[in-house]
Amino acid sequence: MRIKWVLLCPECYPNLHDAKPHYVDAELTDTLSVVTTCPKGHEVRLLNQMEKFEIFLGMGAKALMDSYFLESLVYCSIAKEDLYSFALKCMTQNNEASLDNYKSLKKLQKNSERILGAFSILYFYHFGSMEEAKEKTKTLLEKVLNQNLQELRNKCMHQGYIPRKKEAEDYAMNAYEIVETVIRTLKGKEEFQKNILALVGKTLEDQKKEEHDITIKEIYCYNPTYCLYKLDPLLPLEHPKSFQDAYNEFKEKMRNVETVK
Ligand SMILES: [Zn+2]
Repeated sequence: MRIKWVLLCPECYPNLHDAKPHYVDAELTDTLSVVTTCPKGHEVRLLNQMEKFEIFLGMGAKALMDSYFLESLVYCSIAKEDLYSFALKCMTQNNEASLDNYKSLKKLQKNSERILGAFSILYFYHFGSMEEAKEKTKTLLEKVLNQNLQELRNKCMHQGYIPRKKEAEDYAMNAYEIVETVIRTLKGKEEFQKNILALVGKTLEDQKKEEHDITIKEIYCYNPTYCLYKLDPLLPLEHPKSFQDAYNEFKEKMRNVETVK
């Protein structure tokens, strides 16, 4: 899968202060690392500091912007599934137990309906009884378990149904709101903050361990081009941004990216 990346080539600009970004097309692998070439021919390996759900949500927004409604819905659906897995790991990781250490439980993660169920119950367990979070949890779980959107997703995935613009927009908004709320809630709970950092660190570690040509220079990449929502594990929580505001900003940014060669 090839998508557009922002590249600050370390060979062209050894001093990062003078660096001007290049926009390059490059293949994204499943570990999220990317090998690409700057316009002057320098090969660079990008280590991605984004989670899969952030990238897929951005790709869903880009597809929506370009009127690829079925693609948008599929990307947003994958983004939600990856978010649920991420949140499950975050909520189950402590010093004594980690989901990754239980092979039998790991099997659950292969089935999206099971992940959805496990996520919903565990999220309810952690946040449903907190007085200040009760109403928000109820609203969030209604979005997560929205029957109409789930049926729409299944119709698209299994019957090749082509969604209308409004349906794809509703689906993308639902995905964005779920991602925004879940990450906000997890980041707001102290015991989960360090788990988020550990999980983001592991995504990078997996890319570093991946077999690759060690002569190619490596740099870290945030891929701000396809970004509708940024997790930013080290930054404090900002005010929530509505889907419409985030999407309008995204469209503006993408228009600029596409005019730069
Ligand atoms: Zn270069």
